[in-house]
Amino acid sequence: MELLGKSKEELRAFCVSIGEPAYRGEQIYHALYAERKFDLAQMTNLPLNLREKLAKEAAISLPMVKQRFVSTDGSVRYLFGLGESETKDRGDFNTELAEGTEKRKPLRAASVEAVFMPSEGRQTICISTQAGCAVDCQFCLTAQLGLIRNLTAGEILAQVLLPLEEHKERLAPQTNIVLMGQGEPLLNFDAVMAALRILLDPAAVRIAPKHATLSTSGIVPGIERLAEEKVRPKLAISLNASSDEQRNVLMPINKKYPLAKLLEACKKFPKGTREYITFEYVLLGGVNDTPEDARRVARMMSDLGRVKVNIIPWNPGALPFAEPTEASVKEFHRIMLEKGVPTFTRYSRGRDVMAACGQLALTQIETAPTAA
Ligand code: SF4
Repeated sequence: MELLGKSKEELRAFCVSIGEPAYRGEQIYHALYAERKFDLAQMTNLPLNLREKLAKEAAISLPMVKQRFVSTDGSVRYLFGLGESETKDRGDFNTELAEGTEKRKPLRAASVEAVFMPSEGRQTICISTQAGCAVDCQFCLTAQLGLIRNLTAGEILAQVLLPLEEHKERLAPQTNIVLMGQGEPLLNFDAVMAALRILLDPAAVRIAPKHATLSTSGIVPGIERLAEEKVRPKLAISLNASSDEQRNVLMPINKKYPLAKLLEACKKFPKGTREYITFEYVLLGGVNDTPEDARRVARMMSDLGRVKVNIIPWNPGALPFAEPTEASVKEFHRIMLEKGVPTFTRYSRGRDVMAACGQLALTQIETAPTAA
Protein backbone atom coordinates (compact mmCIF):
# COMPACT_ATOMS: atom_id res chain seq x y z
CA MET A 1 0.00 0.00 0.00
CA GLU A 2 1.39 3.40 -1.02
CA LEU A 3 0.89 5.86 1.84
CA LEU A 4 1.86 9.17 0.22
CA GLY A 5 -1.23 10.97 -1.01
CA LYS A 6 -3.64 9.06 1.21
CA SER A 7 -6.20 10.99 3.24
CA LYS A 8 -6.70 10.62 6.97
CA GLU A 9 -9.75 8.44 6.34
CA GLU A 10 -7.86 6.20 3.92
CA LEU A 11 -4.99 5.78 6.38
CA ARG A 12 -7.44 4.94 9.17
CA ALA A 13 -9.11 2.31 6.96
CA PHE A 14 -5.72 0.90 6.00
CA CYS A 15 -4.71 0.49 9.64
CA VAL A 16 -7.98 -1.30 10.41
CA SER A 17 -7.37 -3.58 7.39
CA ILE A 18 -4.05 -4.74 8.86
CA GLY A 19 -5.55 -5.35 12.28
CA GLU A 20 -4.48 -2.08 13.95
CA PRO A 21 -6.67 0.52 15.64
CA ALA A 22 -7.93 3.28 13.32
CA TYR A 23 -6.23 6.05 15.33
CA ARG A 24 -2.87 4.71 14.17
CA GLY A 25 -3.85 5.99 10.72
CA GLU A 26 -4.10 9.52 12.12
CA GLN A 27 -0.66 9.16 13.65
CA ILE A 28 0.76 8.16 10.27
CA TYR A 29 -1.08 11.11 8.69
CA HIS A 30 0.54 13.50 11.19
CA ALA A 31 4.03 12.03 10.85
CA LEU A 32 3.93 12.00 7.05
CA TYR A 33 2.42 15.41 6.32
CA ALA A 34 2.91 17.60 9.42
CA GLU A 35 6.37 16.29 10.36
CA ARG A 36 7.46 15.30 6.83
CA LYS A 37 8.78 11.92 7.95
CA PHE A 38 9.22 9.99 4.73
CA ASP A 39 10.83 6.96 6.32
CA LEU A 40 8.53 4.63 8.28
CA ALA A 41 11.38 3.82 10.68
CA GLN A 42 11.50 7.52 11.67
CA MET A 43 7.83 7.67 12.67
CA THR A 44 8.67 7.53 16.34
CA ASN A 45 5.11 8.39 17.32
CA LEU A 46 4.35 4.75 16.37
CA PRO A 47 5.44 1.73 18.43
CA LEU A 48 8.42 -0.17 17.07
CA ASN A 49 6.45 -3.34 16.28
CA LEU A 50 3.97 -1.34 14.19
CA ARG A 51 6.79 0.37 12.29
CA GLU A 52 8.21 -3.07 11.52
CA LYS A 53 4.82 -4.31 10.38
CA LEU A 54 4.31 -1.23 8.20
CA ALA A 55 7.70 -1.76 6.57
CA LYS A 56 6.27 -5.02 5.19
CA GLU A 57 2.77 -3.77 4.36
CA ALA A 58 3.31 -0.22 3.14
CA ALA A 59 5.64 2.12 1.31
CA ILE A 60 6.25 5.85 0.91
CA SER A 61 7.45 6.46 -2.65
CA LEU A 62 8.95 9.86 -3.30
CA PRO A 63 9.76 11.10 -6.77
CA MET A 64 13.47 11.23 -7.50
CA VAL A 65 15.05 14.68 -7.79
CA LYS A 66 16.75 14.28 -11.17
CA GLN A 67 18.12 17.80 -11.31
CA ARG A 68 18.13 21.07 -9.38
CA PHE A 69 18.70 24.40 -11.11
CA VAL A 70 19.53 27.26 -8.76
CA SER A 71 18.82 30.79 -9.96
CA THR A 72 20.73 33.89 -8.93
CA ASP A 73 17.51 35.19 -7.34
CA GLY A 74 17.44 32.18 -4.97
CA SER A 75 14.74 30.22 -6.85
CA VAL A 76 15.34 26.50 -7.21
CA ARG A 77 13.79 24.59 -10.09
CA TYR A 78 13.42 20.87 -9.47
CA LEU A 79 13.13 18.25 -12.14
CA PHE A 80 11.35 15.27 -10.57
CA GLY A 81 11.44 11.81 -12.10
CA LEU A 82 8.15 9.97 -11.57
CA GLY A 83 8.04 6.21 -11.59
CA GLU A 84 5.63 3.85 -13.26
CA SER A 85 2.73 2.49 -11.25
CA GLU A 86 -0.96 1.87 -11.52
CA THR A 87 -3.68 4.22 -10.41
CA LYS A 88 -7.31 5.09 -10.79
CA ASP A 89 -7.84 7.47 -13.63
CA ARG A 90 -11.03 9.32 -14.45
CA GLY A 91 -10.40 9.59 -18.13
CA ASP A 92 -8.43 11.88 -20.36
CA PHE A 93 -8.89 15.23 -22.01
CA ASN A 94 -11.71 14.05 -24.24
CA THR A 95 -13.71 12.57 -21.43
CA GLU A 96 -12.71 15.05 -18.74
CA LEU A 97 -15.05 15.31 -15.84
CA ALA A 98 -17.35 12.74 -17.44
CA GLU A 99 -19.07 10.41 -15.03
CA GLY A 100 -18.38 6.72 -15.09
CA THR A 101 -14.97 6.85 -16.74
CA GLU A 102 -13.04 5.71 -13.69
CA LYS A 103 -10.78 2.84 -14.56
CA ARG A 104 -7.44 1.43 -13.57
CA LYS A 105 -4.62 1.97 -15.94
CA PRO A 106 -0.84 1.87 -15.78
CA LEU A 107 1.05 5.12 -15.29
CA ARG A 108 3.89 5.95 -17.63
CA ALA A 109 7.22 7.09 -16.26
CA ALA A 110 7.46 10.86 -16.63
CA SER A 111 9.24 13.94 -15.37
CA VAL A 112 7.72 17.13 -14.03
CA GLU A 113 9.04 20.35 -12.65
CA ALA A 114 8.37 22.45 -9.59
CA VAL A 115 9.92 25.75 -8.51
CA PHE A 116 10.74 26.89 -4.97
CA MET A 117 10.90 30.70 -4.72
CA PRO A 118 11.99 32.25 -1.42
CA SER A 119 11.22 35.90 -0.67
CA GLU A 120 10.81 38.21 2.30
CA GLY A 121 8.58 36.50 4.89
CA ARG A 122 7.42 33.67 2.66
CA GLN A 123 8.26 30.99 0.15
CA THR A 124 6.19 30.23 -2.91
CA ILE A 125 6.18 26.79 -4.50
CA CYS A 126 4.90 26.39 -8.03
CA ILE A 127 3.82 22.81 -8.73
CA SER A 128 2.74 20.66 -11.66
CA THR A 129 -0.45 18.61 -11.81
CA GLN A 130 0.05 16.70 -15.06
CA ALA A 131 3.09 15.52 -16.98
CA GLY A 132 2.73 17.45 -20.22
CA CYS A 133 -0.62 18.96 -21.10
CA ALA A 134 -3.30 18.47 -23.74
CA VAL A 135 -4.63 22.02 -23.74
CA ASP A 136 -2.32 23.32 -26.47
CA CYS A 137 -1.86 26.97 -25.52
CA GLN A 138 0.32 28.43 -28.25
CA PHE A 139 2.65 30.35 -25.92
CA CYS A 140 3.36 27.37 -23.63
CA LEU A 141 6.27 24.95 -23.89
CA THR A 142 4.45 22.28 -21.90
CA ALA A 143 1.86 22.12 -24.67
CA GLN A 144 4.56 20.80 -26.97
CA LEU A 145 4.85 17.66 -24.85
CA GLY A 146 1.20 16.74 -25.28
CA LEU A 147 -0.44 15.02 -22.30
CA ILE A 148 1.87 12.30 -20.96
CA ARG A 149 -0.25 11.48 -17.93
CA ASN A 150 -2.07 12.77 -14.89
CA LEU A 151 -0.09 12.94 -11.66
CA THR A 152 -1.30 11.11 -8.57
CA ALA A 153 -2.17 12.99 -5.39
CA GLY A 154 1.09 11.74 -3.85
CA GLU A 155 3.14 13.02 -6.78
CA ILE A 156 1.50 16.45 -6.49
CA LEU A 157 2.06 16.56 -2.72
CA ALA A 158 5.68 15.52 -2.99
CA GLN A 159 6.47 18.64 -5.03
CA VAL A 160 5.61 20.69 -1.92
CA LEU A 161 6.87 18.36 0.79
CA LEU A 162 10.34 17.72 -0.66
CA PRO A 163 11.34 21.39 -1.20
CA LEU A 164 9.94 22.30 2.25
CA GLU A 165 12.03 19.56 3.84
CA GLU A 166 15.12 20.49 1.85
CA HIS A 167 14.88 24.15 2.95
CA LYS A 168 13.62 23.48 6.48
CA GLU A 169 16.46 25.36 8.19
CA ARG A 170 15.65 28.59 6.33
CA LEU A 171 11.88 28.48 5.93
CA ALA A 172 9.93 31.73 6.23
CA PRO A 173 6.72 31.61 8.30
CA GLN A 174 4.37 31.62 5.29
CA THR A 175 4.19 29.13 2.44
CA ASN A 176 2.28 29.91 -0.74
CA ILE A 177 1.51 27.28 -3.32
CA VAL A 178 0.54 27.97 -6.88
CA LEU A 179 -0.76 25.29 -9.22
CA MET A 180 0.75 26.89 -12.29
CA GLY A 181 3.37 24.39 -13.37
CA GLN A 182 2.89 21.73 -16.01
CA GLY A 183 -0.65 20.67 -16.74
CA GLU A 184 -4.22 21.85 -16.43
CA PRO A 185 -5.21 21.20 -12.79
CA LEU A 186 -8.93 21.02 -13.50
CA LEU A 187 -8.39 18.17 -15.96
CA ASN A 188 -6.93 16.11 -13.10
CA PHE A 189 -9.57 17.22 -10.64
CA ASP A 190 -9.76 14.28 -8.22
CA ALA A 191 -6.02 13.93 -7.63
CA VAL A 192 -5.57 17.71 -7.39
CA MET A 193 -8.32 18.03 -4.79
CA ALA A 194 -7.04 15.02 -2.83
CA ALA A 195 -3.61 16.69 -2.65
CA LEU A 196 -5.07 20.11 -1.83
CA ARG A 197 -7.18 18.75 1.02
CA ILE A 198 -3.97 17.51 2.66
CA LEU A 199 -1.95 20.65 1.82
CA LEU A 200 -4.65 22.92 3.25
CA ASP A 201 -5.44 20.79 6.31
CA PRO A 202 -4.35 22.54 9.55
CA ALA A 203 -3.56 19.02 10.89
CA ALA A 204 -1.33 18.16 7.90
CA VAL A 205 0.76 20.53 5.75
CA ARG A 206 -1.01 23.60 7.19
CA ILE A 207 -1.02 25.92 4.19
CA ALA A 208 -3.74 28.55 4.52
CA PRO A 209 -6.34 28.30 1.71
CA LYS A 210 -5.82 32.02 1.03
CA HIS A 211 -2.18 31.21 0.25
CA ALA A 212 -3.01 28.57 -2.37
CA THR A 213 -3.89 29.49 -5.96
CA LEU A 214 -5.11 27.20 -8.71
CA SER A 215 -4.59 28.54 -12.21
CA THR A 216 -6.74 27.24 -15.05
CA SER A 217 -6.91 27.81 -18.78
CA GLY A 218 -10.68 28.07 -18.31
CA ILE A 219 -12.19 24.58 -17.94
CA VAL A 220 -15.70 25.76 -17.11
CA PRO A 221 -17.11 22.45 -15.67
CA GLY A 222 -14.01 22.23 -13.45
CA ILE A 223 -14.48 25.80 -12.19
CA GLU A 224 -18.11 24.97 -11.37
CA ARG A 225 -17.05 21.81 -9.55
CA LEU A 226 -14.33 23.66 -7.63
CA ALA A 227 -16.91 26.24 -6.56
CA GLU A 228 -18.73 23.47 -4.66
CA GLU A 229 -15.70 22.41 -2.62
CA LYS A 230 -15.82 23.31 1.09
CA VAL A 231 -12.12 24.15 1.33
CA ARG A 232 -10.67 25.41 -1.90
CA PRO A 233 -7.77 27.45 -3.21
CA LYS A 234 -8.12 30.85 -4.79
CA LEU A 235 -8.89 30.84 -8.49
CA ALA A 236 -6.67 32.29 -11.20
CA ILE A 237 -7.63 32.36 -14.87
CA SER A 238 -5.01 32.30 -17.57
CA LEU A 239 -6.76 34.82 -19.86
CA ASN A 240 -4.16 36.13 -22.32
CA ALA A 241 -6.58 37.52 -24.90
CA SER A 242 -9.14 40.28 -25.17
CA SER A 243 -11.58 38.62 -27.60
CA ASP A 244 -12.81 35.14 -28.56
CA GLU A 245 -11.20 35.54 -31.95
CA GLN A 246 -7.79 36.15 -30.40
CA ARG A 247 -8.20 33.57 -27.67
CA ASN A 248 -9.36 30.84 -30.08
CA VAL A 249 -5.94 31.13 -31.70
CA LEU A 250 -3.78 31.54 -28.59
CA MET A 251 -5.73 29.07 -26.43
CA PRO A 252 -7.82 26.69 -28.56
CA ILE A 253 -9.63 25.51 -25.41
CA ASN A 254 -11.58 28.76 -25.85
CA LYS A 255 -13.53 27.18 -28.71
CA LYS A 256 -14.95 24.71 -26.19
CA TYR A 257 -15.38 27.20 -23.33
CA PRO A 258 -15.69 30.67 -24.89
CA LEU A 259 -15.16 33.87 -22.94
CA ALA A 260 -18.86 34.49 -22.17
CA LYS A 261 -19.17 31.07 -20.47
CA LEU A 262 -15.83 31.43 -18.71
CA LEU A 263 -16.64 34.88 -17.36
CA GLU A 264 -20.10 33.69 -16.27
CA ALA A 265 -18.49 30.84 -14.27
CA CYS A 266 -16.08 33.36 -12.71
CA LYS A 267 -18.93 35.67 -11.80
CA LYS A 268 -20.68 32.82 -9.96
CA PHE A 269 -17.52 31.52 -8.27
CA PRO A 270 -17.91 32.05 -4.49
CA LYS A 271 -15.37 34.44 -3.00
CA GLY A 272 -14.58 34.75 0.69
CA THR A 273 -14.00 38.04 2.45
CA ARG A 274 -11.28 39.99 0.66
CA GLU A 275 -10.87 37.11 -1.83
CA TYR A 276 -10.51 37.97 -5.50
CA ILE A 277 -10.08 36.11 -8.77
CA THR A 278 -6.78 36.73 -10.51
CA PHE A 279 -6.62 37.01 -14.29
CA GLU A 280 -3.19 36.29 -15.73
CA TYR A 281 -2.46 38.08 -18.97
CA VAL A 282 0.78 37.17 -20.76
CA LEU A 283 1.55 40.23 -22.84
CA LEU A 284 2.82 39.13 -26.24
CA GLY A 285 4.47 41.84 -28.29
CA GLY A 286 2.37 42.76 -31.35
CA VAL A 287 -0.29 40.12 -30.54
CA ASN A 288 -2.43 41.13 -27.55
CA ASP A 289 -0.76 44.28 -26.24
CA THR A 290 -2.59 47.21 -27.85
CA PRO A 291 -4.52 49.91 -25.96
CA GLU A 292 -7.72 48.48 -27.49
CA ASP A 293 -6.84 45.06 -25.98
CA ALA A 294 -6.45 46.74 -22.58
CA ARG A 295 -9.84 48.46 -22.92
CA ARG A 296 -11.54 45.18 -23.88
CA VAL A 297 -9.98 43.34 -20.93
CA ALA A 298 -11.05 46.13 -18.57
CA ARG A 299 -14.64 45.86 -19.91
CA MET A 300 -14.59 42.09 -19.27
CA MET A 301 -13.58 42.70 -15.66
CA SER A 302 -16.24 45.32 -15.02
CA ASP A 303 -19.03 43.13 -13.62
CA LEU A 304 -17.11 40.20 -12.15
CA GLY A 305 -16.86 41.45 -8.57
CA ARG A 306 -13.44 41.41 -6.87
CA VAL A 307 -10.75 40.69 -9.47
CA LYS A 308 -7.18 41.64 -10.17
CA VAL A 309 -5.14 41.40 -13.32
CA ASN A 310 -1.51 40.32 -13.49
CA ILE A 311 0.26 41.45 -16.64
CA ILE A 312 3.19 39.14 -17.41
CA PRO A 313 5.44 40.53 -20.15
CA TRP A 314 6.51 37.66 -22.41
CA ASN A 315 9.94 36.15 -21.76
CA PRO A 316 11.72 35.75 -25.06
CA GLY A 317 12.74 32.13 -25.47
CA ALA A 318 12.09 29.02 -27.49
CA LEU A 319 8.71 30.06 -28.94
CA PRO A 320 8.18 32.55 -31.76
CA PHE A 321 6.62 35.40 -29.78
CA ALA A 322 8.14 38.80 -29.19
CA GLU A 323 8.70 40.59 -25.90
CA PRO A 324 6.35 43.60 -25.61
CA THR A 325 7.98 47.02 -25.59
CA GLU A 326 8.34 48.71 -22.24
CA ALA A 327 6.06 51.48 -23.50
CA SER A 328 3.26 49.02 -24.42
CA VAL A 329 3.52 47.30 -21.01
CA LYS A 330 3.22 50.66 -19.24
CA GLU A 331 0.37 51.83 -21.43
CA PHE A 332 -1.57 48.56 -20.98
CA HIS A 333 -1.10 48.83 -17.21
CA ARG A 334 -2.08 52.52 -17.19
CA ILE A 335 -5.33 51.92 -19.10
CA MET A 336 -6.35 49.08 -16.79
CA LEU A 337 -5.83 51.28 -13.74
CA GLU A 338 -7.63 54.18 -15.40
CA LYS A 339 -10.62 51.85 -15.90
CA GLY A 340 -10.51 50.96 -12.21
CA VAL A 341 -9.11 47.41 -12.48
CA PRO A 342 -6.50 46.52 -9.83
CA THR A 343 -3.54 45.59 -12.03
CA PHE A 344 0.04 44.48 -11.40
CA THR A 345 2.90 43.90 -13.80
CA ARG A 346 4.90 40.81 -12.87
CA TYR A 347 8.21 39.90 -14.31
CA SER A 348 8.50 36.12 -13.78
CA ARG A 349 11.07 35.05 -11.22
CA GLY A 350 13.74 32.52 -12.01
CA ARG A 351 14.06 33.68 -15.61
CA ASP A 352 17.65 32.47 -15.81
CA VAL A 353 16.67 28.89 -14.90
CA MET A 354 13.62 28.79 -17.19
CA ALA A 355 11.23 28.75 -14.27
CA ALA A 356 9.09 31.47 -15.72
CA CYS A 357 5.46 30.96 -16.71
CA GLY A 358 5.02 28.50 -19.57
CA GLN A 359 8.67 27.44 -19.53
CA LEU A 360 8.44 24.49 -17.17
CA ALA A 361 8.78 21.93 -19.93
CA LEU A 362 11.94 23.13 -21.55
CA THR A 363 14.25 20.55 -20.02
CA GLN A 364 12.05 17.74 -21.21
CA ILE A 365 11.69 19.14 -24.69
CA GLU A 366 15.45 19.35 -24.88
CA THR A 367 16.04 15.90 -23.43
CA ALA A 368 13.07 13.82 -24.55
CA PRO A 369 13.15 13.20 -28.28
CA THR A 370 9.98 11.11 -28.01
CA ALA A 371 7.92 14.06 -26.76
CA ALA A 372 5.16 15.20 -29.12
S1 SF4 B 1 -0.55 27.15 -20.29
FE1 SF4 B 1 -1.24 25.57 -18.84
S2 SF4 B 1 -3.14 24.78 -19.75
FE2 SF4 B 1 -2.06 25.87 -21.40
S3 SF4 B 1 -0.87 24.23 -22.42
FE3 SF4 B 1 0.45 25.20 -20.87
S4 SF4 B 1 0.25 23.88 -19.06
FE4 SF4 B 1 -1.49 23.44 -20.43
